[in-house]
Amino acid sequence: MRRMATGDLSLGRPKGWEDWRWQMANRIRTPQQLSAAFPRLTADPDLMSVIAKYPMAITPYYASLIRRVDSADPVFQMCVPRSQELADPPFLMPDPLEECHDMPVPGMVHRYPDRALVIATTMCSTYCRHCTRKRIAGTRETSITKRRLEQIANYLTEHPQVSDVIISGGDPLTMSTENLEMVLSRLRQVPSVQIIRIGTRVPVVLPMRITDELCQMLRKYHPIWINTHFNHPQELTPESIAACNRLSDAGVPLGNQSVLLRGVNDRPQIIEQLCRALVRNRIRPYYLYQCDLVRGVEHFRTPVSRGLEIMEYLRGRLSGLAIPTFVVDAPHGGGKIPVLPSYVVSQSPTHTVLRNYEGMLIAYPEPQGWFESECCRPQEDSAPGVWELTAGQYSRIQPERTLRQARRQPCCTSDESVRDF
Ligand SMILES: *Cc1c(COP(=O)(O)O)cnc(C)c1O
Ligand code: SF4
Repeated sequence: MRRMATGDLSLGRPKGWEDWRWQMANRIRTPQQLSAAFPRLTADPDLMSVIAKYPMAITPYYASLIRRVDSADPVFQMCVPRSQELADPPFLMPDPLEECHDMPVPGMVHRYPDRALVIATTMCSTYCRHCTRKRIAGTRETSITKRRLEQIANYLTEHPQVSDVIISGGDPLTMSTENLEMVLSRLRQVPSVQIIRIGTRVPVVLPMRITDELCQMLRKYHPIWINTHFNHPQELTPESIAACNRLSDAGVPLGNQSVLLRGVNDRPQIIEQLCRALVRNRIRPYYLYQCDLVRGVEHFRTPVSRGLEIMEYLRGRLSGLAIPTFVVDAPHGGGKIPVLPSYVVSQSPTHTVLRNYEGMLIAYPEPQGWFESECCRPQEDSAPGVWELTAGQYSRIQPERTLRQARRQPCCTSDESVRDF
């Protein structure tokens, strides 16, 4: 059994503990409730201003995972507001991913060709201090309306290239089973929607929400995939593991998206321990995110190089199954960019020189007589991208408005055979 060090929460489990609605109703939301739960906590003088800007909510369950009441504790750091959230360096933005520019219908982000993301609710059971949607999560606690859902479903019907819909938020599993079913069943009526994913931190912060009733409902709408959000091994408790097992047993493949957080999980050994524990419990590490440039999370950011060090450490030590992809979700809506140590040391037409995790250098001889493969040609109308450049479809992608570009003169010998963009 976990030993709880302080406050009311140490007095064992009150009646109702196992009921997710009780957990929701008894969330720590005010400074008074916070000091009642943690009498030994030194009150942060800025607490009121912080939570006026970025709401606080902590389920009693998640609060019970705190082992020491200060910022040396990873769980404490992820849920208890701190004055550093008010720091405001100029490059931080409320919406660094510019999701609002990729919203053809309010509440739905369509950024990638075949995928769309639906913000189904603004509510979470516990508000993560490092949340990337701090501008939305908890500011009002509302869920998607029937009318909005209808607009989204119509958009998806008119855009059959979208085959993968991600239900996100907020945390969609804080919705009632009935409301969530309304969303799932409407999306399932769109024939072009093949897979539905749910992004949720509920297995971590409110595992009792994963009821048999919920699992029974979800299995009616397969294929359903769930990505959850464990950041630290301390969050993998018997309760959260059991919740994940219930989902897996209902046929839902589980992935995990972690965020790299300074002082929480920014050591390679912690990520290693986390990834091993995830795989042991049938949860596939999917992404490790570089912290976004979100206002209010400056104190959690690490340099990108820390993520690379971690990836360097993991490769070779862990099975590929346990290694997440490290991604920077680029500012200005650039989307997720995988970042990896470089394993290609050099290349000639005949050999590629690679290094392995130990530093061994190996030459890989290329096939003889290879020129180009006809099967790799993009379609005629394919939009320009880096892959189209490699295929010779376009000869360049030119940034607008460079000084050199402004100085350039038209000239008579331009080669019209490859298109420019
Ligand atoms: C992350 C994300 C997706 C899904 O990306 P995958 O790489 O397929 O997991 C889709 N839409 C938006 C807006 C996203 O941020
Ligand atoms: S559960 Fe997700 S949306 Fe909610 S606060 Fe945490 S990171 Fe943000």
